[in-house]
Amino acid sequence: MGVLVVIGGVASAVWMGLLAVSGASLDPKIYRSPRRRLFAAMAGIFLASALLYGYPALLGGAPTAAWSGLMILSLVSLVPRRSTVEGDSPPDPRPFDERDHVLSRMHLAAGSPEEEDYYRRRPDRRGEDETLRSLPAMGDPATPAYHPGAALEVDSLFAVVRRIGVLPSASPGAADRTPAWVRARAEEVARGLGAVAVGVSSLRPGDLYSHAADRRGDYGEEIVTDHTRAIVFAVEMDADRVEMAPSLQATVESASGYLRAAGIGSAVAEVVARAGGDARLHRSGDYQIVLPPLAARAGLGEIGMMGLLVTESWGPRIRLGAVTTDIPLAPDSPGSFGLAEFCRRCGKCALNCPGRAIARAPGRSRGTEKWEVDGDACYAFWRRVGSDCGLCLRVCPYGRAEWPLRNLWRRAVRRRPSLVPLCLAYDDLLYARRPRPLLPGRGSGTFPDG
Ligand code: SF4
Ligand code: SF4
Repeated sequence: MGVLVVIGGVASAVWMGLLAVSGASLDPKIYRSPRRRLFAAMAGIFLASALLYGYPALLGGAPTAAWSGLMILSLVSLVPRRSTVEGDSPPDPRPFDERDHVLSRMHLAAGSPEEEDYYRRRPDRRGEDETLRSLPAMGDPATPAYHPGAALEVDSLFAVVRRIGVLPSASPGAADRTPAWVRARAEEVARGLGAVAVGVSSLRPGDLYSHAADRRGDYGEEIVTDHTRAIVFAVEMDADRVEMAPSLQATVESASGYLRAAGIGSAVAEVVARAGGDARLHRSGDYQIVLPPLAARAGLGEIGMMGLLVTESWGPRIRLGAVTTDIPLAPDSPGSFGLAEFCRRCGKCALNCPGRAIARAPGRSRGTEKWEVDGDACYAFWRRVGSDCGLCLRVCPYGRAEWPLRNLWRRAVRRRPSLVPLCLAYDDLLYARRPRPLLPGRGSGTFPDG
C-alpha cells in the first residue's frame, strides 16, 4: 500500500507537470479555452492529490489507493512504445486526368480551343462548372474571409512560386555517385532548408496524371516520364495560422508552405542533377504527379479521411513537395501509426466540413478503396468563403500544437486502438467537437450557406 501511494504521488506530480507544460506551450491569444482547460485539469489533480495524500484518514485508505492506481495506469498507458504495425502498400490507382481537376477546369478560358475540347468530351460538366464560375472569385473583397493585407500576401507568394522553374539549371553531371550518396545529399539539403520529413518512393504509372491540363502550354498531352523515383518531403505549416482557418490569413500560410516546398524542391532537383541524375521539381501550379499517395508510400504518413496526407507528428498541417528522378534511389517503406482506425472513430473533419465534401465512409475511386472527398464541393465552399478554407486541417486531432501530452497520446494509440475514444474525448474537451468558425477578416463568425 505504502509503495502504491508513493508511486501514485509521483504519477500525480508527473501528470500535473505534463498538463502544465502542455498548457504553457499554447499561445494564450489563440488557444485561450484549451489552455484554461489544461490548467483546470492540473488544478483538479493537485487538489485531489493534496486531499487524498495530505489527509488520507479523512476518506480512508481505499480512495487514496484507487486514485494512485488511476494515476499510475493512465500514465503507463501513454508511455510510447515502438510500433510494430506495418503499413500496406496501396495498389496502383488508375491515372487521374489533370484536365478533370476542378482548378484546371476553372482555368479554361472562355471560347478557347481547350474549353471547347473539354466540354465536347465532358458535356455533363458544363452546367456545374458554370455555376462554380458564377461564385465570387477567391480573394474577392465581397467574400466573408476577405482581408486586404492577406489578399496581397497570398497573391505575392503565389506569383513567386510560379516563377520557380521545374527543371534544374545544371545538366546531369558525371554519374559516378551511388544512389545512397545522392539520397543523403538530397535529404541533407531538404532538411537544412526546413523540410520536416523526407522519403523516397518508387514512381508508378498510376502516380502520374494521364494528361496535362494547363499552364505549361501542353494542354491535353499525355504525361510520360522515364523517372522511376520520387523524393517527397513535407514542410510544416504554422499551427497558430492554421487555427485561423477558414480565413485569408490561413491561406497566407498555405501559400507560404507552397513557396517553401517549391524552394526546397528546386534545390533538391539541382543537387540530383549535379550528382548525375535527370530531375524535375513538382510544385504548386506545375505537378505531373499526385502527391499524397506517393508521400504515404515514401513513409511520410497515411491518407486521412479528408483525403490529405496526415503525418503522425504534424497531422495534415503540412505542405508537400517532390522531385522525380531516374536515379534508382532505394525506396522507403510505408508505415502505419493507426490512422485508419482513428479516422473511423473520429470523423471530426467530415463533421466540421462546411462544404459537406468529406464522406464518412470509404468508397472506391480510380480503382482503389479510399476515403472519398468531393473536390468540387470543397472548391465551391472556397469560392463562397473567399479562402482555401482548411477547416479540416484545423480540426484534425493529429495537427494540434500543444505538447508533450499530444505526442504521448499519438504514440499510445499506435499500439492500443482502444485508447482512441479517450484521445478523442481529450481533444473534444480541449478544442471542442465543433469549434466556432472564425472569419477574422470580417469577424462575422458565420459561414455562407454550404
Ligand atoms: S478545405 Fe474546407 S470545404 Fe474543403 S474539405 Fe476541408 S473542410 Fe471541407
Ligand atoms: S480529423 Fe479525424 S477523421 Fe479527419 S483525418 Fe483527422 S483523425 Fe482522421
